Amino acid sequence: MNNLTEKLEKKQFLERDEFKWLLENNTPELRADLSNRAQRVSGETFGKGVYVRGLIEFSNYCKNDCYYCGIRRGNEAAHRYRLSEQEILDCCALGYDLGFRTFVLQGGEDPGFSDEQMAALIKKIRAGYPDCAITLSLGERPREVYEAFYAAGANRYLLRHETAQRNIIENSTPGNCCWKTVRHVSRISKQSAFRLAPALWSARHHQTVDNLVADLLFIKELNPQMIGIGPFIPHQHTPYKDAKAGTLEETLLLISILRLMLPKALIPATTALGTIDPKGRELGILAGANVVMPNLSPVAVRKDYSLYDNKICTGDEAAECRVCLSKRMEGIGYEILTHRGDYPQE
Ligand code: SAH
Repeated sequence: MNNLTEKLEKKQFLERDEFKWLLENNTPELRADLSNRAQRVSGETFGKGVYVRGLIEFSNYCKNDCYYCGIRRGNEAAHRYRLSEQEILDCCALGYDLGFRTFVLQGGEDPGFSDEQMAALIKKIRAGYPDCAITLSLGERPREVYEAFYAAGANRYLLRHETAQRNIIENSTPGNCCWKTVRHVSRISKQSAFRLAPALWSARHHQTVDNLVADLLFIKELNPQMIGIGPFIPHQHTPYKDAKAGTLEETLLLISILRLMLPKALIPATTALGTIDPKGRELGILAGANVVMPNLSPVAVRKDYSLYDNKICTGDEAAECRVCLSKRMEGIGYEILTHRGDYPQE
């Protein structure tokens, strides 16, 4: 075991079977060993600093119908909302006052927000906050649209592929929209000025250990700047309502492996991780993550951005979330940094 974790830390190539062994022998001892190494590696670049992003969930309308997601088109029980441009700008103003220097605009794939409207909004945020980074998480768009967003002033794009395993995608997204995205992620990452951040999704309902290993290898090959990874959590109004949730232990193990594979990557300790365990975000940081993303959306709409059941932090004002996260990080000997938190220069 030590042999494998040491190899990972030294950035030596691990065979498929070796990754598989790690995932199949996910004991507390193995996780402790991996998280010690992951903290060491993360510390070399980030010290005890945690980057912070202000998340603005600006619309929960979505044209897609992914079986796992609470804001899927087919969920008629979802109460839909779309923030106005002014409301989004107000979120930025509040976030700026609270010390955020990165705004993440995330939403369902909402045809009600045209690409032109989006670009106009980005321009306004760029003009109002020249010292801030603007990250977009809007799903797959044609390449020209990414370029238009980039020209308007956006800096980063979080393009989620969920998993690169075709069989899982066929079982979870009608029309295979996410499979298209996987190929798109691979292609665009080689062409675009944007900093890509694929998201890996740790779930067990269709995912086998072999699938997870293949996803790890896919991400290694892609070498992204950011890796979003969180556990799958069922949502009561989706076809996956009875599927088994991803576990804390598995997510933490994967975070540590990813940190050792990609020492400089930006890896968030996600809200989903905080939802499956009250200390999930702290444990995520201790496993090697280095980003937290508190919510800046107006409290009135928070509950409606319901991707999965029991999502945390839906009742707290942005300022409360900010203070709460700072305290949580201090509690484990880490500190939230208030600069833009760009990917470290090579
Ligand atoms: N449309 C945007 C934003 C998507 S937000 C984009 O493509 O970037 C939705 C993200 O939340 C998904 O990409 C997925 O990673 C996560 N998610 C959706 N349903 C989930 C669930 N049931 N459990 C955990 N995470 C989920």
